[in-house]
Parts: sequence; C-alpha cells; structure tokens
Amino acid sequence: MLKRVNRVALIGTGFVGSSYAFALLNQGITEELVLIDLNKEKAEGDAMDLNHGLPFAPSRTKIWYGSYQDCGDADLVVITAGANQKPGETRLDLVEKNSRIFKGIVDEIMSSGFDGIFLVATNPVDILTYAVWKFSGLPKERVIGSGTILDTARFRFLLGDYFDVDTRNVHAYIIGEHGDTELPVWSHADIAGTSISEWTKHKDGFNQEDLDQLFLNVRDAAYHIIERKGATYYGIAMGLVRLTKAILGNENSVLTVSAYLDGEYGQKDLYIGVPAVVNRKGIREIVKLELNEDEQAKFTNSANVLKNTMEPVFKNI
Ligand code: NAD
Repeated sequence: MLKRVNRVALIGTGFVGSSYAFALLNQGITEELVLIDLNKEKAEGDAMDLNHGLPFAPSRTKIWYGSYQDCGDADLVVITAGANQKPGETRLDLVEKNSRIFKGIVDEIMSSGFDGIFLVATNPVDILTYAVWKFSGLPKERVIGSGTILDTARFRFLLGDYFDVDTRNVHAYIIGEHGDTELPVWSHADIAGTSISEWTKHKDGFNQEDLDQLFLNVRDAAYHIIERKGATYYGIAMGLVRLTKAILGNENSVLTVSAYLDGEYGQKDLYIGVPAVVNRKGIREIVKLELNEDEQAKFTNSANVLKNTMEPVFKNI
C-alpha cells in the first residue's frame, strides 16, 4: 500500500504566494504542492519554474498547477489570494471586496470535499480568517490566520539587533490586530530568561525611548517596505512556512497567529493575533498571557476596532 503524503494547496501565486512556494520547496516540508490562481498562466509558469529547481531541493516535492478539485485531498490550504488596496479605496471597501472574493474561493474549496486546515494570509487577515471560518463551517481550531506572526518576527529581529543578541534568544510577542492597533507585550518580553526591563536597567546604552521607537518601526514596517519596493513578501512567506512546518510536523509550537477567541483575553467571536500552540490538528490552545492594565486596554481597543470594521461587512454577505 502506498504511504499517504502531505499535500498543501496554495490559492494565490502573487508576490506572497510564490515566495511561500519557493521557501517551502527549499525547506522540503511537504511532499505535494498544488498551485491555484485566477491568473492561470502565472500559476502554471510558477509550477514550471519551481519544478526546475527540484534537482537542488533537499527532498522531493511534487508541484503542479491545478484546480480547486485538487483541494479535496489537501491537508492544508493556504490562501494568499485577493485584491490589494487601490488609490481612493477605503479599508472597508477592501474588506468587502476581499470577503466576496473569499466567499467564492471557500465555496469552491469546500465543494471539493476538503476537510483539512485553512491558513490565511490575505489582508485584512484577522477579518478574512473569520470569513473563512464562517464560510467553511469548519471547527474554529482548523482555521488559522497568519495574524501577528510577521510582526512578532520583526519585533524579535529588531530587539536582537538593538541588544546585539541572536534573535532566536529573544522571546517577545506582538498581539492584537495585524495592523495599526497591534501592541507589544513588554511585560513578558525576555532575552534568555532575563526580562527586557532588567536587561535595559543593568546595562549601559539602552533606554525606553529607543524601545518605544523600535516598536513603532515594527508597527509601521509594512509601510516602510512598501514605500521602497511596492510590497512585502519574503518575511511573511517564511512565517507561513514556519506555520506549515508546525502543522504538518505536529510540533506543538507557540506562534502568534490569528485565532478565534471565545472568552480568552476578555473577547468573544473574533479572530485576532495571540500566541497559540499549533499542531497537526490546528490550534491546540490559546496561550493566555497575564497582560498588565495598559496592555489589556490596548488589546481591548484593538479588538473593538476589528469588530467595528467587521460588523457592516458580515451584515451584507
Ligand atoms: P499579489 O497581487 O501579488 O497576488 C495576489 C494574487 O491573488 C494574484 O496572483 C491574483 O491573480 C490572485 N487572485 C486574485 N483573486 C483571486 C481569486 N478569486 N482566486 C484565485 N486567485 C486570485 O498580492 P501579494 O503581494 O501576493 O499579497 C497577497 C495578500 O497578502 C494581500 O492581501 C496582502 O495584503 C497580504 N499580505 C499579508 C501579510 C501578512 O502579514 N498577513 C504580509 C504581506 C502581504
């Protein structure tokens, strides 16, 4: 009998999707990868191009350009498809437009018989992850958004750079909306078990003003990159690969994702960025950080902004 293999279906092979496919292939994480895009030529061209790299890959990945029917046997469907904000368009316009696009995509995927895990990266990611959960009817733990995984990575990188310590020894989270109202959890930020506030207090050359500016650079990183090169894609692509590895490898890894809250952090019925344990079943559990008063107030504000943006959209769909 043939061994069952892992299949990832990628919907949307634009900047983010094709970077994800490239990084996935380079890390040899799945045995099968099917590429699907409204722009068939682009997906087909990407499949050809990626296949030509196979002789240099760490393991064999079967890659092809396919259709929604191929999602029926997928373990994971990653969605990076959707429209970008156009000049003159409000955020709400984009939410409505992408929610409608997502209704079509998710209906097609579900009619293929798909019964795996969804991973969503399209913006506004928290709201679109909620949309996928609603449209698919799958259990909440099997619908995951990339949330603040990238913001947390930016935060850890910049902190490592500032303190001149390997970023992998920096443990700190950005939570909340993936967007303007996100917040740093300073009260639980540490370097190798030493809180950042201790580190700053006992060593020369570090101060809170620098750290406040560092967070602003995290929050506004996408604007800074888009100003320079039009889009951001490598960082999020690697974050999506990390999540794919945690899911397919049943790793029980703690990653900041957009997860459905049902009372945690004082919130209900929304998807928002929080640390969570991720494994082969999706989200095993939400990690409940003890926030201080200021952090809790900022988190509540972030959740309210998301709820206010979502409300008119889901009334009309
Ligand atoms: P892009 O325009 O390069 O790619 C979008 C792709 O989606 C295109 O190939 C397009 O043909 C495809 N598409 C559009 N409608 C479709 C449909 N109905 N069915 C199938 N495919 C469809 O955009 P990009 O730069 O790759 O960004 C994609 C999304 O990722 C955006 O929403 C962007 O804001 C988001 N993003 C998220 C993060 C994050 O941290 N979550 C970071 C960067 C970008």
